[in-house]
Amino acid sequence: MKAEIITVGSELLQGQTIDTHSMFLSQELLNLGVTVNFHSSVRDDQEQLLALLDLASKRSDFIFLCGGLGPTLDDLTKETLATYLNVTLVQDEETTKRLESIFEGASNLLTQNNYKQTFVFPDGVIFQNQNGTAPGLAVTKHRQTYICLPGPPAELRPMFETSVKPFLLELMPDVHAIVSHPLSFFGIGESMLEDRIQDVVKKSTNPIVAPYAKEYGVTLRLTAKGKTVSEAQRLVAPIRKLILERVGEYCYSERDELLEEVVSTKLRQLNKSLAVVESCTGGLLAHLITSVPGSSQSFKGGSISYTNESKAMLIDEGIVERYGAISMQTAEALAEQTQRKFQTHFALSTTGVAGPNESENKPVGLIYIGLAEKGKPTRVYQIKLKGSRRRIQLLTAKYALFILQQ
Ligand code: ATP
Ligand code: MG
Repeated sequence: MKAEIITVGSELLQGQTIDTHSMFLSQELLNLGVTVNFHSSVRDDQEQLLALLDLASKRSDFIFLCGGLGPTLDDLTKETLATYLNVTLVQDEETTKRLESIFEGASNLLTQNNYKQTFVFPDGVIFQNQNGTAPGLAVTKHRQTYICLPGPPAELRPMFETSVKPFLLELMPDVHAIVSHPLSFFGIGESMLEDRIQDVVKKSTNPIVAPYAKEYGVTLRLTAKGKTVSEAQRLVAPIRKLILERVGEYCYSERDELLEEVVSTKLRQLNKSLAVVESCTGGLLAHLITSVPGSSQSFKGGSISYTNESKAMLIDEGIVERYGAISMQTAEALAEQTQRKFQTHFALSTTGVAGPNESENKPVGLIYIGLAEKGKPTRVYQIKLKGSRRRIQLLTAKYALFILQQ
């Protein structure tokens, strides 16, 4: 089944709003096994939209129209679609009641324009909006299905999940179950990952294997369709195994979760505690850890030890003098001191050159991460990162978490 996405709104073409709907819907549709062939954005302009609808109807089965369902005069998506399909919109009773109940107590705010939102396609489908006033609409004419969705992301996304997805599944006769299995990777670039599993990705059609690059990692999503959930799961299993055999050492989670969440859960399950001492990450590592609810069960605290003088307050001054602040030895001593001081099972340290300028004649991106563990030898990892200061700091903090969860 071929789909395309049309986003409507002059603000999208004036560079004021980034079109995130096309990205969101494309990912969701790919997971359903629907191919998206085109993205287009068009102004709030009836003639331009009519021309685009004509083009889309000739090349796609599903045409998604996002935005322009609001009460104002420039919102003209469904009216233009009605013109194109040569149908007259009809007022829907339930939608009208919903609208009036939303404005109850403030009925003076309900203008005649608002009632525009209660008009729907005859013989169409209505997706009620739990987060706003404009319902989503679907209508099938000839062999095309048109799906109109509201512009605000906080309305479109939940509507897709709760109403549009089930609607699309009903239109796919052999599919009753979809299983989507994520594999999250860190420490391996997208191109390297693809290179290692290229043949699997190319050959596998059910499940589809799709990579999503994030700011600091890659998630592979294995999406299988079947008559039942267990059939779909059975299809996922061998491909998952094959991928993990090749690049399993970089995989930190088989759920939609962040590295800090994985670390927090593992520490809690093992009943282990953690402290940190941060130089180049300036508190970012502690911030990531404490952004997970319940982290106080395992995270005891830490310090930011930024200048050489402040490092000398924690560890033997001679170490920094002899080896430099950006060194294996400093990372090791900081981690060990923190583990002892906080009496934790683990302590992580970070020190390195976040940039933009080099430091101690060491290049931007050179990082040391120390991991001290009670009763075990301390390990220090040297890594080399590229990118902006912000990226180097974020990747360092994430690396520290990745090292800990291994
Ligand atoms: P409203 O009732 O708010 O007018 P609407 O369905 O008419 O809803 P628009 O007016 O097109 O929607 O857009 C409302 C808001 O939704 C915009 O201000 C913008 O912030 C956001 N938005 C619209 N289209 C997109 C898009 N393609 N990607 C991301 N955000 C969008
Ligand atoms: Mg609008």
